[in-house]
Amino acid sequence: EGSTETFRYESDISRLRSLVIHSIYSHKEVFLRELLSNANDALEKLRLTALTDRTVMSAGEGNVTIEVNLDEGSAGKTGKIIIRDTGIGMNKDELTRNLGIIARSGTGEFLKKAEEGKGVDGNLIGQFGLGFYSCFLVSPTVRVSSLPPATSSNPNPIQYTFVSSATGDSFEIYPDPRGNTLGRGTEIVLTIEEDQGEFLSVNKLKDLIEKHSTFSTTFPIYIKERKTTKVPIPAPQSPVADGDDDEFENDLDSDDQTPKEDEFETEVDEKWVKVNDKAPIWMREPKEVSDEEYIEFYKAVSKDPAAEPLGWSQFKGDTGSGVSFRAIMYIPSQLPKDFWQKMTSGINNVRLMVKRVFITDDLGEEFMPRWLSFLKVTVDADDLPLNVSRETLQNHRFLSQLQRILVRKALDLFTRVAADEPKKFEEISKLYGNALRIGLLESEKDKIKLAKLLRFESTRSNYTSLEEYVDNRKEGQKQIYYIASVGETPKDLARSPFVEKLLARGYEVLLLNLPSDEPMMAALDHFMGMTTHDVSKKGLKYGDEDEHEAEKKELEAQKVAFKPLTDWLKKDLTGQISDVVLTNRLVTSPCTIVVDSMGWSANMQRIMAAQAD
Ligand code: ADP
Ligand code: MG
Repeated sequence: EGSTETFRYESDISRLRSLVIHSIYSHKEVFLRELLSNANDALEKLRLTALTDRTVMSAGEGNVTIEVNLDEGSAGKTGKIIIRDTGIGMNKDELTRNLGIIARSGTGEFLKKAEEGKGVDGNLIGQFGLGFYSCFLVSPTVRVSSLPPATSSNPNPIQYTFVSSATGDSFEIYPDPRGNTLGRGTEIVLTIEEDQGEFLSVNKLKDLIEKHSTFSTTFPIYIKERKTTKVPIPAPQSPVADGDDDEFENDLDSDDQTPKEDEFETEVDEKWVKVNDKAPIWMREPKEVSDEEYIEFYKAVSKDPAAEPLGWSQFKGDTGSGVSFRAIMYIPSQLPKDFWQKMTSGINNVRLMVKRVFITDDLGEEFMPRWLSFLKVTVDADDLPLNVSRETLQNHRFLSQLQRILVRKALDLFTRVAADEPKKFEEISKLYGNALRIGLLESEKDKIKLAKLLRFESTRSNYTSLEEYVDNRKEGQKQIYYIASVGETPKDLARSPFVEKLLARGYEVLLLNLPSDEPMMAALDHFMGMTTHDVSKKGLKYGDEDEHEAEKKELEAQKVAFKPLTDWLKKDLTGQISDVVLTNRLVTSPCTIVVDSMGWSANMQRIMAAQAD
């Protein structure tokens, strides 16, 4: 024991603190995340210590919790934020070393980066393990009191206090004059001045905890809520019952009885509310998590309490560069509003955490492929340096490896829902069918997997897949027939002259009307041994030509007979058409215009013309 001791910050720490404090800093709010993450660490250390030393838990404080308490000043503009944990605590020496003197390994490098003009942002601070100093972002003076647990080697610990201002180059340590008030653990008191007044709101703090620390801290966080209610003071019994002289009474005694202020009392109702009452479900085994819990979690991450996901999957992974992670992925029940305009709304759809600490939900527009950017994903990586910034992440192989794994898992998820929950998959097809088609266009490698996920209308069915189409093919049929025209109804498409002959012969034709359909079918080119064929293009082959040998002979004969007509048409329409041929493709229509098999179909020409506008 003893009195106050004053220590000088090591010069690096001094520089560092002034840098942090004087930077124009856009993420001051990270202080809470950093302090809560330290509290969580302290509780984890306590748990580890308790494994080998039972006295740790049995002596004193039994709880393992984190508490956040707001203590507003009289004017409501200044006040204190008090963060308390019942973790491992720090003795005098640890307070001095951990918070004060000793520059930690990252400090020098951090200073170099920061002074090179890279700017000091919240992530940079976190990345270098300098989280504690972020409290000076919002608080000009910080007081930390701490009491380690009683252990067999130190049965009578003493509570010490560390005090530092943001600006001075020294700090003080002294035995807490209040004695061992903590039971065990650490209490951090931040003084909040008017300029940081926004943090003096229980709701603001709750929002921040929810954003950065819910689902991330493994220990419960409580915040103290205060409700002030005005309760009326029971009126003194009137000596006179209801009657005519009421008016008289009021006139007489108005000074004593009517002033509104005096009729009410202010009652303050305080209670501790658990903020992170949902455990991080991705840390649990999937079979131990109920559907309700998955849905609850989805509601929390999607900020849409009414929505239910159309599917989800939880998985563990390893990126190959030694970073293992756990993740949960959801298919939302709605497309983001501006999905088709931007197709980048995914920027906030992947939340990256490291060891349960929220790092960022902005991995950049490029992170997920555009066509999958609607998925809501939470990734918790284990072995990344804690609090890496997005800038450093982008150069990290982890991200590109993670992206590949997420794409594969997304395809697995769609495939599983398609097989196990066909009704759900119908909804998915309606919402995301176009996106999946674009996926097929943009990812050569996964073409076939994606093709299996597509659903179409056809002349046979209003909901069919390519696999079904292939199953239903006619003997000898080598082509998957389709007609594509944006925006036309399948009914109209079925009436097209191109479809007639095929229908008459009993072939199925896919009736496609999405903008992505035609380029997608062209890109797919073949599926399960069949080639895709646009029936409005030349080169249509029936598989049953042999059966129609007679027909063929007749066609040859007719070709000769009609030569004068076709020659005349060719001559008359020179420059407008490239060829005139006799065909057996039509049943009732007398003639049709077809596109060269290498040319753009009329539909595609319409799309191109629209894009040129
Ligand atoms: P990091 O958490 O990356 O080590 P910080 O600057 O956040 O860096 O914290 C510095 C150190 O101070 C921690 O490593 C820990 O030893 C100690 N510390 C900070 N907060 C607490 C706390 N609430 N309980 C116990 N020790 C703490
Ligand atoms: Mg920390």
